[in-house]
Amino acid sequence: AKHWGIGSYEIFDSAMGAQIQAALRMEGELRQAIERSELQVFYQPIVSLADGAMTGMEALVRWQHPQRGLITPDEFMPMAEETGLSVLLDWWVLRETCRQIQSWDAESDLRSHLLFSINFSSRQFAQPNFVQQVETILAETGIAAHRLKFEITESAIIHNPKSAATVLEHLKSLGIQLALDDFGTGYSSLSYLHGFPVDTLKIDRSFIQNLETDPKSLEIVRTILLLARALDKKVIAEGVETPDQCRLLQSLQCDLVQGYFFSRPVTSAMADAFPMTWPGY
Ligand code: C2E
Ligand code: CA
Ligand code: CA
Ligand code: CA
Repeated sequence: AKHWGIGSYEIFDSAMGAQIQAALRMEGELRQAIERSELQVFYQPIVSLADGAMTGMEALVRWQHPQRGLITPDEFMPMAEETGLSVLLDWWVLRETCRQIQSWDAESDLRSHLLFSINFSSRQFAQPNFVQQVETILAETGIAAHRLKFEITESAIIHNPKSAATVLEHLKSLGIQLALDDFGTGYSSLSYLHGFPVDTLKIDRSFIQNLETDPKSLEIVRTILLLARALDKKVIAEGVETPDQCRLLQSLQCDLVQGYFFSRPVTSAMADAFPMTWPGY
């Protein structure tokens, strides 16, 4: 039998307390990391299946923690979104990526045609001055809007479809392209395709992973591609790891691919060495 004496409460309290303290410490550390620019943007190439040409890169945030080493977003984005720090973080990533584009452009015009994809958490779109802040960062860094693609998920739209539509139309009119991220994993993706100015559907990694072994995944991917073609939207398949997945996607006439098969996300210094065309995949 359980005895819920004062003693057990104390144990419960101190265990909870330790968890809460750890969470608070992490929040404080992330806030500092953002303020001190201790985060890093990694870059992963996006490649055209038709000819192997790199068409752009996705910016993916990393946290170089003084004790714990390199931390990937899965470990801190949920906390960042809950506490609202994701708003600061996403602005930091946008600014940092624009600076990187600027620095690459200053070296040569090799990369001047590349499109840079930035992730935004859904909370961001609720900010009343969202578009204004984007324009400020573009003006500060001197980057043209058409160099950027913003990746958003359905949840950014779901909470307030009307204001999301306004924000997206506004971004679109600036020349920023829009991608619907994690496509296929949400609830009502199809209805958003019609009313929102999205250029690209990004098929979630979970469908690509099982492409060769699971006939259902293959059918879903095939259907998304047909739908996209009918609606005149581009498709990026994310999480491509094998040559077979590549060949399959090519036979389905998928436009763009991204995944470890081409490169993991890497530092800007390493991204500097990405080939402009990926040979023989
Ligand atoms: P996402 O936007 O769906 O990004 C794709 C994730 O899949 C990335 O994980 C990427 O490293 C990983 N990936 C790419 N190719 C492969 C592959 O071939 N195999 C496998 N196993 N994984 C692959 P990452 O970098 O850990 O990011 C996780 C998620 O965190 C992202 O998912 C995105 O939702 C979020 N995130 C990353 N950076 C930012 C950011 O700057 N702002 C916001 N709001 N969210 C971000
Ligand atoms: Ca993404
Ligand atoms: Ca995904
Ligand atoms: Ca995601």
